[in-house]
Amino acid sequence: MEIIRSTSEMQSRCLALREAGKRIAFVPTMGWLHEGHLSLLREGRRRGDVLVLSIFVNPTQFGENEDFDSYPRDLDRDAALAESVGVDLIFAPEAADMYPRGYRTFVDVTGPMTEVLCGASRPGHFRGVTTVVTKLFTIVQPHVALFGQKDFQQLAVIRRMTGDLNLPVEVVGMPIVRETDGLAMSSRNVYLTDDQRRQALALSRSLDLARGLVAAGERDSARIITEVRSLIEAEPETRIDYVNICHQDSLQEQPEVDADSVLLLAVFVGQTRLIDNGHLMATGRDS
Ligand code: AMP
Repeated sequence: MEIIRSTSEMQSRCLALREAGKRIAFVPTMGWLHEGHLSLLREGRRRGDVLVLSIFVNPTQFGENEDFDSYPRDLDRDAALAESVGVDLIFAPEAADMYPRGYRTFVDVTGPMTEVLCGASRPGHFRGVTTVVTKLFTIVQPHVALFGQKDFQQLAVIRRMTGDLNLPVEVVGMPIVRETDGLAMSSRNVYLTDDQRRQALALSRSLDLARGLVAAGERDSARIITEVRSLIEAEPETRIDYVNICHQDSLQEQPEVDADSVLLLAVFVGQTRLIDNGHLMATGRDS
């Protein structure tokens, strides 16, 4: 396994691999790897001849008062985990190489898809995500790229962008990996105190509650959302950013639950903003 820092070196290596007929599988991350990332990498290993992992805490997708500075970083730890699942190349660029002085180009998926949910509470976030993913695709030249359904809106936005721009990359969505007690794995879970870690279970329990209501015949989204909000608000350190029931493709709110409905949650537990989501009916596209 090799670690490459330079954008130009990485691009020439990947172009040469493509020339040699290799199929490149790519998993973009911000590092501090956990089982969720490793599940994407294992699937990438299966789908490509060369497995590329990027580790880049992308400044353009963080807001002013967000956790860019405190985001956990440890390249040695990540490299050991990456090697254990068969990564061939780690791309770990410097921000100054990705966004040199005078950088002026951004990729923006416009309209409601990026204005709702996380887009409403994190203005500019998806513009940062789509810009960095476009740059990473151009540098790494992947045939296939794997993303987690944990970031459900991000996956939908990336699919839209890849289609709209005719990017020759197959985008694969992967199920959410959870701790045994249900908490969705996240690099940000490291911020939680023991008590907050317990309170954070309100997110996955919300999914269970909503699915139980739907299984019992409830279809009214407003009533389900009310129940979910009170479950979350019962924990002292939680603050709801949003609880919505949306169509899985358009991300528009749905007053009535059907097979396309996804419950999407963003909740602060203390200072830590956590997200989770899941379909409300069994669909085969479930997480
Ligand atoms: P991040 O490092 O948080 O930017 O995540 C990198 C990739 O890993 C994204 O495609 C995420 O959706 C995915 N990911 C993060 N957490 C999980 C999880 N618990 N299960 C599956 N995929 C995940």
